[in-house]
Amino acid sequence: MMIFTKKMIEIRNILHDIQDDNSHITLPSIVVVGSQSSGKSSVLEAIVGHEFLPKGSNMVTRRPIELTLVHSKETTTPYCEFNGFQFGQITDFTKVQQILTDLNMAIPPRQGVNDDPIRLTICASHIPNLSLIDLPGYIQIHSSDQPVDLDDKIASLCDKYIQEPNIILAVCAADVDLANSTALKASRRVDPLGLRTIGVITKMDLIPPEKAVSILRNEHYPLHYGYIGVISKVPQLSMWSRNQNLTDIVSSRERSYFSAHPEFRELPVLPMLGIQNLRKNLIHVLEYTMSKNLQYTADSIRSELDDCSYQYKVQYNDRLLTAESYIAENLDVLKAAFKELSQKLDKNEVRALLKETLNEKILDLLAERYWMDQNILDWTKQSRTVDEHWQYKLDSCVSMLTRMGLGRVSTLQVTELLSKKIEEISKQSPFGEHPGALQYILNATQDILRRRYHNTSEQVENCVKPYKFEVEIDDEEWKASRSEALVLIQKELSLCQAAEEKIKKALGSKRLSQILDFLDSQAKSSEPLPVAHSAILLDQGRLMQYLQMRETILKLRLSTLKSKTCKLKESKYLCPEIFLNAVSNKLINTAVLFINIELLSEFYYQFPRELDQRLIHSLTSDQLASLVDENPRVKSQIQLQRKKQALELALLKINSLAMLERQTDTD
Ligand code: GDP
Repeated sequence: MMIFTKKMIEIRNILHDIQDDNSHITLPSIVVVGSQSSGKSSVLEAIVGHEFLPKGSNMVTRRPIELTLVHSKETTTPYCEFNGFQFGQITDFTKVQQILTDLNMAIPPRQGVNDDPIRLTICASHIPNLSLIDLPGYIQIHSSDQPVDLDDKIASLCDKYIQEPNIILAVCAADVDLANSTALKASRRVDPLGLRTIGVITKMDLIPPEKAVSILRNEHYPLHYGYIGVISKVPQLSMWSRNQNLTDIVSSRERSYFSAHPEFRELPVLPMLGIQNLRKNLIHVLEYTMSKNLQYTADSIRSELDDCSYQYKVQYNDRLLTAESYIAENLDVLKAAFKELSQKLDKNEVRALLKETLNEKILDLLAERYWMDQNILDWTKQSRTVDEHWQYKLDSCVSMLTRMGLGRVSTLQVTELLSKKIEEISKQSPFGEHPGALQYILNATQDILRRRYHNTSEQVENCVKPYKFEVEIDDEEWKASRSEALVLIQKELSLCQAAEEKIKKALGSKRLSQILDFLDSQAKSSEPLPVAHSAILLDQGRLMQYLQMRETILKLRLSTLKSKTCKLKESKYLCPEIFLNAVSNKLINTAVLFINIELLSEFYYQFPRELDQRLIHSLTSDQLASLVDENPRVKSQIQLQRKKQALELALLKINSLAMLERQTDTD
């Protein structure tokens, strides 16, 4: 018989996590109701055999406590588990009491009570399989910080729980007139015939024995399961140790009290007395109620399962999805995109990126060192003389280029590009809807890149070191660099002309030439001239002057580069654009070589493995579930699927239980 309730409790636990407000499945539990201080907690603790409930006069039960007692022969040390919390198995009942107190006290007095239940499972070898719900006690008076309608709030919370098919354990203190028992009044409202109510009369020691006996014989408020009288007061801790079983202690005290008073021997049914008998009755009544409701429960589960299966088919075409399979599928998508990226972002791409950076650097150096030089026009026109001034210019430009910290600059550029690209493909992948998963991916990227950064940048820097002292260029390299330099300067010239065109268009040719004339006259005149144009226009004019000058220089430089002189590498001082280009090519080739080996190849190898590690192997099932839940659509699918699976399992179990029952009946 013990097995039956245990199995039903198992089924209840399976269903518990998936039940929502629309669910009609309810498995019977014993609901403990009574006025404050009627002795509810003492009775529950005497049944369980441990002191674990919150104590105090300050309304310490503010939330329902759903208590599942699991009888387990093998359990040598009793333990408790709070469902829905990560506390693990707790063997110290003082700690359980503290947690329960904290969870209850978290409800502020002005709120009074809250109907979100605390779920606690106690597993031990000395307890029966029972499912009990402790509720806040009915109150008659309330303090100033509590809501004025607190009694109504408590009453409606209790009313929610005392509905069919639950069993009502109405706790009444013997020293309070039963006619005033709020618990019995509430029970009579929902169970007028008293068919599913058990009366518990506590504090039997506080009234004369003959009066106690007459209460138990109660004829005014008859209940189908009758009344049981108990003396549940938990003795002072000094009189027992927490390791002892409280049920035994309470029972032995009850025995000595009841046997000391001959009136109790006259009771027609002795089972009307004591915690042990109450326990037996509860086991029996719960089992009977569960068995009576078996068919109804099975039907409700089946109907909810049908509904759920239909929804799953219509919405998701019966496609099985787990958190693991979902993440794995998404990872496959991301890895495919990553493979494509790794094929695209290769040596050539890196070369092009670095080329652009070094071209910028070369243009800056040329502008700063050459084009701003007052003698540039004369020198370019003659273009045949190489004195120390121009030699020094090129040497210092080369030095600036080779000592620019290429190792750091190039590695950083490639790591930034990789991070950006990975972020792009991850956001475009299904992980785009999972901010948490995106963070895992980006962290994996950053961690690998960080690990590779120093090595790569040092390798590049070490290998370009010789160029800081000497750069040798062969004829072929010179030829190629000359073409590139021509393109570079031509492009700069085009940009310059485009900028001029823009100003011309904005101001109009006539106004522009007026402004330019004015600026010319102003430059030539020793006296200040009356200003006929606004400051903005004058600025535009000055910019135009600068661009025109730049255009002249660039055109001259282009003709020099195209000339015979620049065909020979020996003319490097006359053609700095070509030589700097050649140097930058040398630097880039070296950098690309090492970035490819030390950074790209390593990253492309490590990244997919790191993703597997972080998103599949290292995540706990809770972390995995919370990642998946980030996508509401997938969350609903997995929830519905989980519900369907739980209902299937519950139905399977309840059917086999029903079969077992039928067999036992026929045997
Ligand atoms: P609750 O508020 O309904 O949970 O009531 P408690 O279990 O906290 O009991 C209220 C008070 O009554 C406590 O001081 C208990 O020690 C005391 N008490 C409980 N049961 C008995 C009993 O059977 N006899 C006596 N004398 N006192 C009891």
